[in-house]
Amino acid sequence: MKPLNADLHCHSYYSDGLLAPADVMRRAHAHGVQLITLTDHDETAGVPEAHDMALELGMRFISGVEISVTWGDDQTIHMVGLGVDIFNQALSDGLESVRGGRDSRAVRIGDELAREGIEGAYEGAMRHARNPALISRSHFARYIVERGLAPDVKSVFAQWLGRGRPGYVAHQWASLEQAVRWVLDAGGLAVIAHPGRYWFEPKEMETFLGEFKELGGRGIEVLSSSHRPDKVEIFADYARRFGFLASRASDFHAPGESWTDLGKLPDLPSDLKPVWEELI
Ligand code: AMP
Ligand code: MN
Ligand code: MN
Ligand code: MN
Repeated sequence: MKPLNADLHCHSYYSDGLLAPADVMRRAHAHGVQLITLTDHDETAGVPEAHDMALELGMRFISGVEISVTWGDDQTIHMVGLGVDIFNQALSDGLESVRGGRDSRAVRIGDELAREGIEGAYEGAMRHARNPALISRSHFARYIVERGLAPDVKSVFAQWLGRGRPGYVAHQWASLEQAVRWVLDAGGLAVIAHPGRYWFEPKEMETFLGEFKELGGRGIEVLSSSHRPDKVEIFADYARRFGFLASRASDFHAPGESWTDLGKLPDLPSDLKPVWEELI
């Protein structure tokens, strides 16, 4: 039987995506996606609209969120919660507290960019943020591209916004323990997002994944737009060794901006258990 075209990670304009939740669903459907999850950063406001449109189009839908986490001294990790009850109090309070830190961080990013000669970046980024509580580095990047200072969003991260670059501001997000607890409290399943993106030594990765599992974490994105197909086996191996469920994730943000579009991913290695089998 042909594996399901499942895509369990993407964004709408309720966080740093460019499209309305309904339009993300339309695009996913046009790409042959059969099972979809909207996972906005630290925010679930787009889920009801996405849910209704997904069902109207005949796709299956799992609710979701991508939570920003700080692990260890200063490692930013993203964790996806799948199948969460978005009305759960612990989850919504938790997400609200994470969102709360974004504005003051954005002011500081604006200050750092001004020092680099880019004036007005906070206001400019805000104009790109449909949901001001979710002001994100992506909005700064789009503003800088709009100013003609860089050819694309990726280049802005490489020059100014990525870790270690002059516009980067360290920030304290949720702890791993909190994020897993909120997701479990809301009846969901916790999954490590884009494991290829972190600045981990292999030993640190083991410690991190061990801790995540100990806390009740269940899955890892084996297929992600953040790592190339030749790296898939590395993360498939982590899934095997830690007994994690495997997820498939485009992390789509905007047409032409993201590395992979909705539903455009290879199939999961056939020996791994897809995370959605526990959710549908
Ligand atoms: P923030 O939550 O404000 O730290 O912004 C993180 C977001 O920035 C991620 O979810 C991505 O959408 C985007 N991002 C991070 N690194 C890059 C990169 N190298 N190229 C393009 N977008 C990136
Ligand atoms: Mn993002
Ligand atoms: Mn992410
Ligand atoms: Mn994402």
